[in-house]
Amino acid sequence: MDELKNIAEKAQDIIITGHIKPDGDCVGACIAAYNYLHKFYPEKNINVYLKELPERFAFLDSNGKIISNKLPQCNPNLVMVFDSSSAAMLGEAVKLFRSAKDSVCIDHHISNKGYAKTNFIDVSASSTCEVLYNLMSEDDIDFKIAEALYIGIAFDTGVFRYSNTSRKTMEIAAKLMEKGIPFWDYIDKCFYQRTYIQAQLLGRTLLTSMLLMDGKCIFAVITRRMMEFYGASIEDTVGIIEQLRITKGVEVAILLYETGKQEYRVSLRSNKYVDVNKIAVYFGGGGHKKAAGFTMGGSVHDVVNNITEHIEAQI
Ligand code: 5GP
Ligand code: MN
Repeated sequence: MDELKNIAEKAQDIIITGHIKPDGDCVGACIAAYNYLHKFYPEKNINVYLKELPERFAFLDSNGKIISNKLPQCNPNLVMVFDSSSAAMLGEAVKLFRSAKDSVCIDHHISNKGYAKTNFIDVSASSTCEVLYNLMSEDDIDFKIAEALYIGIAFDTGVFRYSNTSRKTMEIAAKLMEKGIPFWDYIDKCFYQRTYIQAQLLGRTLLTSMLLMDGKCIFAVITRRMMEFYGASIEDTVGIIEQLRITKGVEVAILLYETGKQEYRVSLRSNKYVDVNKIAVYFGGGGHKKAAGFTMGGSVHDVVNNITEHIEAQI
């Protein structure tokens, strides 16, 4: 029996969940795990809870029957958490996580300390979907499972461009391609297409960005006013940090997203040598060496000054 079936074997009521800002890897892993377990254990009661489902990944749950944004009202025997580096990232689901007899965490974040009862954390894996694939039996992966895993891996590797893409990642992707998924179509729809609003917001953010530290650092802010002006939602900000990161000469990109009065969500990306996870952990967040985030209070000026001090120390 493979590891994933083994994990779920003894539990009747299972909850599958992820972090409070579900991305392609998180959604893909939750759906792949659900489909896999539901196929083998149709008699089990398996609920998938995510705070939200980004529109561009909604096709993975084509009948809208898998993911719920309402916290399940049950006493699960097992809670499985995906792509979540800490218990705090689970949001409201943390209560269920703590009360369940068993908990399993499947993840790849370097800042993950192994907060569940059983942990499958592989920081060398490109994505949680890659870790999850390794817990499944190749032959039991069908089209729907392959599609979800592929989206997760493609998301976290920036469509196989980032340095977290390994030979193993490519081999897994190849195996998933063999299941007949129209990967070219997914790549366009999920990773390259932009709505007009998204293009406008991207343009505006780039226009008002600033270079710091002799061009080694780029910084931009998305204010609530901008969001209102364009009628944009948080989902429309995806890809903006990426565009900042690929600016020639830049080592670190900082994107501030105003979440409240004097409160910002900070996204950090680095290109070669700066460890942004270290900085994020210092400020109470986490992530990976080259992609991390946290939330911080204060004015834009305060926030940027605080962060750049830590970047300067590493540059
Ligand atoms: P993003 O900039 O895309 O929001 O996040 C980049 C990476 O950092 C993701 O892998 C995400 O899980 C992690 N991350 C972002 N914000 C936080 C946070 O507040 N706490 C922790 N632990 N990780 C975060
Ligand atoms: Mn991930």
